[in-house]
Amino acid sequence: LNRRLASFGTTIFAEMSALAARTGSINLGQGFPDTDGPAQIAEAASRAVLTGLGNQYPPGPGVPELRAAVARHQERFYGLSWDPDAEVLVTAGATEAIAASLLALLEPGDEVVALEPYYDSYAACIAMAGAARVPVTLRPHGGAFALDVDELRAAVTPRTRLLLLNSPHNPTGTVLGPAELAAVAELAVERDLLVVTDEVYEHLVFEGVHTPLASLPGMRDRTVTISSAGKTFSFTGWKVGWVTAVPELVAAVRSAKQFLTFVSSGPFQYAVAEALDLPDSYYADFRADLAAKRDLLAGGLAAAGFEVFRPQGTYFITTDITPLGEKDGLAFCRSLPERCGVVAIPNQVFYDDRTAGATHVRWAFCKRTVVLEEAVERLGRLS
Ligand code: PMP
Ligand code: GLN
Repeated sequence: LNRRLASFGTTIFAEMSALAARTGSINLGQGFPDTDGPAQIAEAASRAVLTGLGNQYPPGPGVPELRAAVARHQERFYGLSWDPDAEVLVTAGATEAIAASLLALLEPGDEVVALEPYYDSYAACIAMAGAARVPVTLRPHGGAFALDVDELRAAVTPRTRLLLLNSPHNPTGTVLGPAELAAVAELAVERDLLVVTDEVYEHLVFEGVHTPLASLPGMRDRTVTISSAGKTFSFTGWKVGWVTAVPELVAAVRSAKQFLTFVSSGPFQYAVAEALDLPDSYYADFRADLAAKRDLLAGGLAAAGFEVFRPQGTYFITTDITPLGEKDGLAFCRSLPERCGVVAIPNQVFYDDRTAGATHVRWAFCKRTVVLEEAVERLGRLS
């Protein structure tokens, strides 16, 4: 293994899901729903396979039906208009969109300012591109994690090429507010930076609405927006994601993407095109269901003695284990299956500064209510 990747090891999601399977624990670690998305969309996928839609290599940029549906969706929810031919690119999940964007836009030695804790693939992809990450740490403040925009500004140097953002934010559940988004946009324009923004949880904002960074003044031309069907439609195994950006940026990302997977998920692309056109009520019901689950799990975790940072978005809750007399989240998560049959994720692996998130642990609530109730009962017996 080369030096760029040697420090990354195995992803925490694989480790913790294997632990859950081995011990028969309730898996609140890796973020995937335990119920599939709408039956009508699953049927669309099987119809596509049976009628021969997408069974051979789909077009490089993605099937036209899906690119048009992505553009319609952004217009419907955000009033953003994108040309489906030049400004939309379909990828193998958001994961490939992140990798292709960073590989396409970074030169070796460039600096990338990224929010910390960060989704694990960000650090690995920055490293694969030969660039350096410069973390800006979200810190607990008044019961939630907040971005200090002065710290963000101070992190930018003449070598900074791009800002890598994620809102709603995994793992903290923070949603950047209007003032923070405006500060990011102002900084990007002032310092002439590109922004790659991961908005896979765009439909999981529990208070207020999601505001895409690309909709702010001066941002359309310099922002690569990433999203995915996995989270919004509860089909994480289909790996259908997409990028929206101006033609030059989409062309750049496509240059990298063509040599990563070339194309992927042919029949699923047709099904996701149908999913994006689901009525507003689908999106509202999905959000309401997860908001109720957030409240259930947040209440249970608080009752079990954790300090709970109530998420404004995503399907994750970050907690602090200090009130339970615990000091090390990784050791805690490794011992949890034996102690009470539940699996969670230690946030410390999402930090450069491992002490910053040492006592933070993340729990996924995209699970059936009975499963969450059982998990809460088990956590209540933790001593
Ligand atoms: N970004 C974030 C913030 C995520 O939480 C995830 C995991 N769903 C991804 C990207 C990867 O998305 P996908 O499964 O579509 O590759
Ligand atoms: N995004 C999911 C999470 O944060 C997991 C995806 C993965 O396993 N790489 O839990």
